[in-house]
Amino acid sequence: MIRFLPLGGADDIGASCFYLNISGTGIILDSGIHPRKKGIASLPAFELLNDLPVDFAFISHAHQDHIGSLPFLVQRFPHLIIYSTPQTKEIAELTLHNAANILKQNQNEENPLRNYTHEEIELLVRSMRTADYEELLELKGMRHISRQPVKIVFKDAGHILGSAAIRLEFEDQKIFYTGDINLSSQTIMTSADLSGIKTDTLITETTYAATDSSLLGTWQSELKRFTRAVNLILQKGGSILVPVFSLGKTQELLASLHLMMKKGTLTETNLYTGGIGKDISNVYDRNRYIIKRKNKELVLKEIPQNNIYEIDDFNYFKKHPGIVLASSGMMLEGTASYKLLDFWLRQDTFAVFGVGYMDPDTPGYKIINSKKGELVQLNLFSVPRKIECEIGKFYFPSHSKREELISIVRKTKPSRVILIHGEEKGKDWLGFNILSKFNGIKLFSADTGKDIVW
Ligand SMILES: [Zn+2]
Ligand SMILES: [Zn+2]
Repeated sequence: MIRFLPLGGADDIGASCFYLNISGTGIILDSGIHPRKKGIASLPAFELLNDLPVDFAFISHAHQDHIGSLPFLVQRFPHLIIYSTPQTKEIAELTLHNAANILKQNQNEENPLRNYTHEEIELLVRSMRTADYEELLELKGMRHISRQPVKIVFKDAGHILGSAAIRLEFEDQKIFYTGDINLSSQTIMTSADLSGIKTDTLITETTYAATDSSLLGTWQSELKRFTRAVNLILQKGGSILVPVFSLGKTQELLASLHLMMKKGTLTETNLYTGGIGKDISNVYDRNRYIIKRKNKELVLKEIPQNNIYEIDDFNYFKKHPGIVLASSGMMLEGTASYKLLDFWLRQDTFAVFGVGYMDPDTPGYKIINSKKGELVQLNLFSVPRKIECEIGKFYFPSHSKREELISIVRKTKPSRVILIHGEEKGKDWLGFNILSKFNGIKLFSADTGKDIVW
């Protein structure tokens, strides 16, 4: 018997965490934290694991919505054996320490989380085991009741450095968990590897299922449109603020902008980066010959960059215009991109360009979906502000488009599809299209706390 129990990230893009019980072996797929929620509310529903066997955790990639609650999971289950790709482990070492610092500032007083220390992170990361893509693991938990082990393989998911989809096999049952998956290539990452993944059960993310793909374009066509828009702002002496995730989008855009400047299509200008994004770029550099990627010769740290965190007076950007890649990608309060935004909104020659997915409840989403001259209220208690700068909306997707999600179903030929990691309307669109295109598929929309058993 196989039991699938969502603990978080089932019906939104938040604290991704799923429990699988395969013949008595307890496996956790991802252990994320919700980027917008605070305190205990930001964690997956770990309490649902009471009395269940929990033996292994598999982390698909190092984004916070997939790994951020791992220290809390380990507090509950100290004997847990954790697996990731070597690259995810390398990035986790940086991001989990960083998250410990943020947690201290970000506590919810009514609902506090026990802080974890840097020593605990040190131990956790050291205990993480790694498996390369395609390396076969054969595992049995403490209460496993079969002579057959569970076989597990990481597949390259093409999303960010080290990202993996996870294929599980037990007796005659196959399960494929996509994690965050991208079927198109970016400037650094190549597309996901779907070879040999015919499955019985497909557990798939649905991030872009709600978005009309004609709006998304391709990485290359968006880059052209982005370059033209940036050139126009630079001609007026303005600077461009680009809110980006420090992991993934920072490295992809940095590489893209550098290549466009080298080609002469993008005006030569200053690039501003900083913080943990820079450290993560070094991990990309170190792994450039180890994993499959594009532009292997491109070394991110050799691209001339200025450090945003060394600039106290933002008037500096008027005298030294350029492109500022600042996290967070959704301009959450208190982050670098949010602080810069406050200054940017008052500059009529400047621009804010959105480049990726934003949660509808974030300041970033509100800005990117407004126009110059309009009023915007960034959060519930703030005074509406007039937008003086230009606003641009671009898509550099690191997730599959909705048609690509359907092609995953076509290639994996499942008899059971479980939809996770997306908004309600995206799941509706994908569910409807799967049912109308394929015969005999049992469709489930995952719900936190509701198990699916087969
Ligand atoms: Zn991700
Ligand atoms: Zn995600």
